[in-house]
Amino acid sequence: MATMQGVRLPGNSTVEHVTAEVPEPGPGQVLLRMRGSSICGSDIRAIYREHLGHGAEAYQGVIAGHEPCGEVVDVGPGARRLGIGDRVVVYHIAGCGVCDECRRGYAVGCHSSFRAAHGWQRDGGHAEFMLAEEASCLLLPEPLTFVDGALVSCGFGTAYEGLLRAQASGLDRLLVTGLGPVGLATAMLGRAMGATTVIGMDPSAPRVHLAERLGLVDVGVGDPEALADAVAETTSGLGCEVAIDCSGSAAAREVALRHTRGWGRCVFVGEGGTVSFAVSDLLIHKQISLHGSWVTSLLHMEQLLERLVRWDLHPEAVVTHRYALSEAAEAYRVADAGEAGKVCIVWED
Ligand SMILES: [Zn+2]
Ligand SMILES: [Zn+2]
Repeated sequence: MATMQGVRLPGNSTVEHVTAEVPEPGPGQVLLRMRGSSICGSDIRAIYREHLGHGAEAYQGVIAGHEPCGEVVDVGPGARRLGIGDRVVVYHIAGCGVCDECRRGYAVGCHSSFRAAHGWQRDGGHAEFMLAEEASCLLLPEPLTFVDGALVSCGFGTAYEGLLRAQASGLDRLLVTGLGPVGLATAMLGRAMGATTVIGMDPSAPRVHLAERLGLVDVGVGDPEALADAVAETTSGLGCEVAIDCSGSAAAREVALRHTRGWGRCVFVGEGGTVSFAVSDLLIHKQISLHGSWVTSLLHMEQLLERLVRWDLHPEAVVTHRYALSEAAEAYRVADAGEAGKVCIVWED
């Protein structure tokens, strides 16, 4: 039986290297040779530091990594679309396929006991090979790279969905609070969708500098006072038509709402925690639409892949650190420090 190297996350900010059998694809499944497997904020928040999750975020001791991208090396019986050699992005949650959420393409919202997310309840991308459902795989178009694909499988998909929810367009100025990987993605895609001005806020100076250096934001600031000045200057004090919080912090959520223009749209994408705000002042009297948005759908992820090609954008621009699987401990340490752009485990040719 062939074996492969993989990584589990036992908690306590550690990684565990394991040897596992290379799985065989069953009906409707494909075996992927992994090429990119990026680290997500939710891996850090709910698994790496300690196993906090329950329900959809319950980590069941599987091979970690829910942002997988690779190459088909074997197909199970009855494959309908994919063949050996195809490059694919994996929508990282396999649902039951027959509930309302699954039929909408949002397997992330599936409540069935058949639902399983890679890296949470079924083996993920931090291994040389990964078993995936053919129905969860999307073809990765040229000239997108495997690292581009890994980033789309969760973070860029999530950012795109938040922007779709806000109906962001060339009519809008965009505020992004939190310039971690999802915030950077939101800024990049928001501009591609037409936002005429992009303002970003993050307490981490390296992240603000990264956003500015990549040209993703017109103005980058580090705190709410500087943001108030920036919004006053760039929008004549009116606020941004669209604001998206990618931080999950209570203060940043409040600030995002505060600087959403009257009749504008605000989206909470950053996970966890709570928020309290003056409902009449910040929401009702400003006639604001406030949305929650969680991951994305299969269809929107496929659209995004196509549009990235047309926009000539490469998500991997936000990757600041690349590691081999054998260096996973260092990769997680860097991702946990909260100063980096995206951290990705890669398999070079
Ligand atoms: Zn993720
Ligand atoms: Zn379902």
